[in-house]
Amino acid sequence: MRTVAVIGAGQMGSGIAQVSAAAGYQVLLSDIDIDRASAGKDVIAAALRKLVDREKIGASEAEQTLARITPVADYAPMAEAGLVIEAATEREEIKRRIFDEVGKVLGSTAILATNTSSIPITRMAQNSPDPSRFIGVHFFNPVPIMGLIEVIRGLATSQDTVEKVKLFGEALGKSLVFAEDVPGFIVNRILMPMLNEACFSLGEGVASIRDIDMACQIGLNHPMGPLTLADFVGLDTCFEIIKVLHETTGDPKYRPAPLLVKYVEAGWLGRKTKRGFYDYSGAVPVPTR
Ligand code: NAD
Repeated sequence: MRTVAVIGAGQMGSGIAQVSAAAGYQVLLSDIDIDRASAGKDVIAAALRKLVDREKIGASEAEQTLARITPVADYAPMAEAGLVIEAATEREEIKRRIFDEVGKVLGSTAILATNTSSIPITRMAQNSPDPSRFIGVHFFNPVPIMGLIEVIRGLATSQDTVEKVKLFGEALGKSLVFAEDVPGFIVNRILMPMLNEACFSLGEGVASIRDIDMACQIGLNHPMGPLTLADFVGLDTCFEIIKVLHETTGDPKYRPAPLLVKYVEAGWLGRKTKRGFYDYSGAVPVPTR
């Protein structure tokens, strides 16, 4: 397999495109239009420049990596991809539409993968041309730094598909874990209730943003507090994940915190909009409450 296609050029899609290109794959990168796909490539260019400045990679390696990434306006060129990874917004109807469309050009042995954080793989496989070649590959944010991929097999996913994805993940230098197709898989099933509970705690006035984060960071020895992490993940993404956990299990312990819902409604989505629980417009993030 030489060519990997990535659909969705946001935080995750651009990271997946970067690490795939760095591993030597040709990468086709798309989004809702060519401008957004190109903006994704610009983000990758900036990330590579930082790596060069910090002497983590050489200038020619950065140049070669960037040259392997081609923004595309539609799915037609993806016919040549051996692996298509969908990393668009965490909304099932958006993902299903993408699978319908890209499925029309998918090669006869190509794999269609989704980077979903929570939506059931077996259910979405119904919109792919061949559910045996449909699989979940859940990367972590930021993709170039985080070493893990969760691989999620749908009911119909073939062993051959699992093996090919395993080889791909290993070629990127990532560690792989294998999860059943259950809501939230491994990590988000454990993480999202904690982030949601931090939002409940803030909304109920238990403590300030600073103190909730400091309590967990120092008290639990976590690298960052839960509200900082929620901002980093994206509050819209956190909301969509906890909503899926709630809807698919029917368990009220997963109901979204009202404050999380409000922030999403306000368009305060975290780092990517420069405002979430913290304000990111200055040099240092400032707690907003
Ligand atoms: P993001 O908001 O940064 O990017 C989403 C991108 O999808 C945007 O560029 C948007 O324009 C694009 N998009 C929307 N509709 C599209 C369409 N129809 N066709 C093509 N592109 C479309 O979100 P993100 O954080 O990159 O998340 C993307 C996916 O990765 C989600 O499924 C999310 O659950 C998953 N994920 C996120 C994280 C995280 O920490 N943020 C971690 C693991 C997995």
